[in-house]
Amino acid sequence: MTYDLIIVGGGPAGITAGIYASRQKLNTLLITKAFGGQIARKAVMIENYPGFEEISGIELIQRLEKHLRKQKIDIERDGVRKVKKVGEKFLVQTTSKNTFEAKAVIIASGADPRPLEVEGEKEFIGRGLSYCVTCDGPLFEGKTVAVIGGGNSAFEAAIFLSKIAKKIYILEYGKVVKADAENQERVKKIGKVEVITDAALKKIQGKQFVNSIIFEDRKTKQEINLPLEGVFVEIGSQPSTSFAEDLVDFNEKDEIIVEFETCQTKTPGLFAAGDCNVGKVKQVITAAGEGAKAALSAYEYLQKQK
Ligand SMILES: Cc1cc2nc3c(=O)[nH]c(=O)nc-3n(C[C@H](O)[C@H](O)[C@H](O)COP(=O)(O)OP(=O)(O)OC[C@H]3O[C@@H](n4cnc5c(N)ncnc54)[C@H](O)[C@@H]3O)c2cc1C
Repeated sequence: MTYDLIIVGGGPAGITAGIYASRQKLNTLLITKAFGGQIARKAVMIENYPGFEEISGIELIQRLEKHLRKQKIDIERDGVRKVKKVGEKFLVQTTSKNTFEAKAVIIASGADPRPLEVEGEKEFIGRGLSYCVTCDGPLFEGKTVAVIGGGNSAFEAAIFLSKIAKKIYILEYGKVVKADAENQERVKKIGKVEVITDAALKKIQGKQFVNSIIFEDRKTKQEINLPLEGVFVEIGSQPSTSFAEDLVDFNEKDEIIVEFETCQTKTPGLFAAGDCNVGKVKQVITAAGEGAKAALSAYEYLQKQK
């Protein structure tokens, strides 16, 4: 069977594309590893999604998924490992070795957390090192932890952890943090969060679990050993787009290059929406907007093929 459209990704972009495609009566399959995407990692309330003055990441995901499941759409929980084009058709291969066929594809695979790339990182994943404060934070009750990064995500992670952990360090590589003034103010008020700037993380170490990190004070060039039990990585994200590398062009950040008006990639019938493309603003609202745009563009493309 050949679908009209396959959507890869179950975050805000993919779910919105699914809702729009189904309303256009496209025979659609949505394939996703998990529902919700990055918003599942949101540590504090979302306060900038219109219509909801305050909503938790988890509740927003549940509402998005419920809305999607009301549509006439097929859903597969699987990872996509390759998208190919053979003649006019796309073949979408999954990690569980299924292959699905479609006339058009929307890539809405978003982004994964950027790794630290320091000694000890791989060794201590799940043993004191985490990329998701909402998932793993509660395991660190009464402990000392560090958040690596100095942007809003790092500060929000520290705010979340302050209700659980005994002491929190924020380690920022640069001279100044990038978090907005409001988050900086909130962190200051907590009292048990210490912000260390000019800190270059060198190593995560421990026995069975993390018991300290080593960072270089970039001002004095001194190496400092900081005893702690948990490390949370909040240094941004990288697009998960490699499965489409034969069919799209990337910019220097591995984001998929698309036409602004349509979200169309260089391959006719292949679209990319949300955080995986070159769009500068990476937010729920823009991802959802692009999901809608890509689905309606795919509909137009399919009409022209008839
Ligand atoms: C900690 C944090 C806090 C944030 N706070 C806010 C906020 O307050 N307000 C706001 O507007 N935005 C916020 N954002 C940004 C927002 O979460 C993203 O812009 C938005 O989630 C992007 O949606 P997306 O659908 O493009 O991608 P994602 O949310 O990344 O979703 C991608 C989906 O694709 C799936 N996927 C990935 N690869 C594959 C594959 N190979 N095969 C199958 N499925 C795949 C994933 O499982 C996931 O379901 C935050 C992000 C983070 C990390």
